[in-house]
Formats: sequence, C-alpha cells, structure tokens
Amino acid sequence: DRLLDIRKHNCNPMTMKVTYYKKPVFINQGYMQWLWDVDGKRYLDFFAGIVTVSVGHCNTKVTETIEKQLRRLWHTTAIYVNPQMQEYAEKLASLLPDPLKVVCFTNSGSEANDLAVLMARLHTGNFDVITLRGSYHGGSPQAIGLTSNTRYKYHIPTTMGCHNTMCPDVFRGLWGGSHCRDSSVQTIRECSCSPGHCQANDMYIRELKEMFATTVPDRIAAFFTEPIQGNSGAVQFPKNYLKDAYQLVREKGGICIADEVQTGFGRTGSHFWGFQGHNVLPDIVTMAKGIANGFPMGAVVTTAEIARSFAKGLHFNTFGGNPLACAVASSVLDTIIEDKMQENSAEVGTYLLTELAKLRDKYEIIGDVRGKGLQIGVEMVKDKASRDPLPSEAMAEIFEDTKDMGVLIGKGGLYGQTFRIKPPMCITKDDADFFLAVFNQAVQNYME
Ligand code: PMP
Repeated sequence: DRLLDIRKHNCNPMTMKVTYYKKPVFINQGYMQWLWDVDGKRYLDFFAGIVTVSVGHCNTKVTETIEKQLRRLWHTTAIYVNPQMQEYAEKLASLLPDPLKVVCFTNSGSEANDLAVLMARLHTGNFDVITLRGSYHGGSPQAIGLTSNTRYKYHIPTTMGCHNTMCPDVFRGLWGGSHCRDSSVQTIRECSCSPGHCQANDMYIRELKEMFATTVPDRIAAFFTEPIQGNSGAVQFPKNYLKDAYQLVREKGGICIADEVQTGFGRTGSHFWGFQGHNVLPDIVTMAKGIANGFPMGAVVTTAEIARSFAKGLHFNTFGGNPLACAVASSVLDTIIEDKMQENSAEVGTYLLTELAKLRDKYEIIGDVRGKGLQIGVEMVKDKASRDPLPSEAMAEIFEDTKDMGVLIGKGGLYGQTFRIKPPMCITKDDADFFLAVFNQAVQNYME
C-alpha cells in the first residue's frame, strides 16, 4: 500500500527509495529538451534521463523509425540475422578505430560490462579486474563487483577478483589540485603529465604498480575505466594517466576496457568516443544509454582476436540485437551525425563550461567546474580552501530550487556533492542561458 501510493508517500516503487525530490516529479510527456509533468508544468531537461536521451525526447526522426519498424519486425533472437542488426553493427563498427570491429549486442550497460569482463577473462586466462575508486559500472552482480562507489554496493560476495585502485581525480584526489612540478601549470588538469614531469600522474601510476606488486601479481584480466567518471560527477584524470595505465596493464598481461556508457556517441563533443580524448586504444569498448535514446540497448565492441576466445563457448542473449532496438539505434546514430549533435555538444558544452567557471569564481561554495562537451560536473564545497563537500541538505535545497524554477539536473559524486549537467545533445545556447540563470539564482538563494 505504501509503495503504491507514490504521490502521497513520495516513494518510487522500483527502487523502494524516496525519490530525488521532496515531492515526486510526475513526468507525463516530453519533446526534445523539454519535459512536462502531469500538471502541465514544463521543465528544461538537463539530465536526459541519466545521460541517455541523446537526441531529445520523442525525437521525430527516431519516433518515425520506431513506428515503421514496429509494423515490420520486433524480435527474432540471434538464431537468425536481420538486416537491421547487420546494418547497425556495420555502422557502429565503422565509427570505431581498427581493430575494434566485432560487435555484440546487449540490452543495458550492466550486461555489456558483464560481457566485457567475461571476454577479458576468457581471452587472458586471468581472473582479476582493476577498476577505479568511485566508479560505477552497473547493477548486475558482476557489475556491482566492478563498481567501487559504496552507495551502490551491498557488500555481499559479488566482488570476487575485483580490485580498486586510487581514482586519479584532478580535483579531489589525493594528488588533486596544483601539484605539478612545472610551476607554470596552474592545475594538473592543464598539465600534459609526461612521465617524470607531473607528480600527480607519477603517483597514481606508482599506486597502480604497487597493486600489481601486492594484490594482483601476474593475474590481471582487465583494467576497466570510464574515460570521464560519470556517476562520481564528471571526474577527470591527468592527461596521460590512461595512456600510462594502459601500458602498464598490458605489460602485466591484461587488456584494457573503456566503459563508454555515458561518454560515447559524441557527448564529450571533441570526440565521438571518450577514450579518444586520452589518446588510447582500448581492447574492448562497452556502451549503452545514449546508444538508443532510452530504448533498452547496449553493445560491446572488441577485436576479432578477443572475440575468437569468446566464441569458444555459446553465449546467448534473447533480446540482444533485436531488429527494433537496432533500427532505433541506427536512427539515433544517423540523427547524431545528420543534425551535428556532437558538434553542438562541443559548442554549447564549451559555452556552459566557460559560463559556469564564472559562477565558480563568484561563489565560495562552487569548488570545481569540469567536464567535456555536455558531460559536466559542478562540485559544491563548504569553502574553497577545505574542499569539504557541501552537506547533503544544502545540495538538496539548491537542487529543489532549480527544479522549482523549471530545470532538472542530476546529482552525484562520492558524497553526493556534485551537480551533474548532462542534457540532451540538442540543447541550444538559449537553453544554456536559461539553465545558467536558474542555477545562479538557486545558489544565490541558498547563500542568502
Ligand atoms: N556504466 C556506466 C558508466 C553507467 O553510468 C551505467 C549506468 N548509470 C552503467 C554502466 C550501467 O548501465 P545500465 O543501467 O544500462 O545497466
């Protein structure tokens, strides 16, 4: 009874948790970057259904594709192939660099990550997986193992063989802030961190080396990271961290997996895939969320060599690669390209980052503004000197106020201290200005 009366008790029957907001927001309708609740109130959506609605709610082109495909074919299973699956797999593979050309379909990010771990273990013959502290890689038992963020863990034995190394967070990490040996570099974010140059990168790599010496000697199957940590609040790494870490992992016999569930499909603006911003080439790339704009879909792309080890067994996924999902994903991809949404992410994202940085300079409680394209984090602190996280009640107040003024944003971070700004990739500069005005007002209201 308590669960059923959502409006009265403000409880989400799915998660059995009180919803994000003091009063639940009952969303009834959407179009592109806009959402309407059951009472007709309009919101500018700056969280995109958790970084998923890449080309806008009910995007007309995608909706037309769904309608057409609904009348043609929904489901066959992978016993058969279908043109939608073939066409989409080819399109997707063409967007990844050689030798990442073998595509496997799943229905979610968790499933994609589970599959990637299985592939890594089969290919290397090793078992252990290293992820970064603060990471979120999904909610299935294996993906919970990969996840480090304690808020999502149940601390039951799902974590066998999964180890966390220090997250090289350039703001909050142990060596975050300005610890570069080059005094002309203001923060390590701007540093090119060549070996022996930037203290922070050296330290994090040394920590990884220590893990190999003490925890996973010669047993590493995979090193698993996002290019920009999403749920932890758009956490960025020193420029050369992934390059150096990948090299070390490969020397130890492991393979490298990029979780592009949030960062893929042009969201980071400058590149189609987040890993490209780090100058690395993963052995496996996993993706979901923005792949199909909210339609359940995920994928793993890997090399023929890794796929061969995996093909020794009989892996099966009933819904994975169904014609309806593939048609939707294909149409989403076409829309991203035809409507220049990656370019828009770069342009509006850069504008947002510049304007948010001005708010950071204006307010003592905005500690850091970071990200790339439309994958942005605004980390809130008690004060700039301590960098202590802004308490949750204060976060809730600003969050609620922003919603009341008509903008939906996200929240994340290890301490729930970071606002996540990840709108559909179709937003305009005017939308950015509206959000900025609302967010500025909400912070100001809190300060008064
Ligand atoms: N990886 C990352 C980086 C994610 O953000 C998420 C979802 N928040 C997942 C994996 C899991 O995806 P899904 O919820 O589709 O299983």
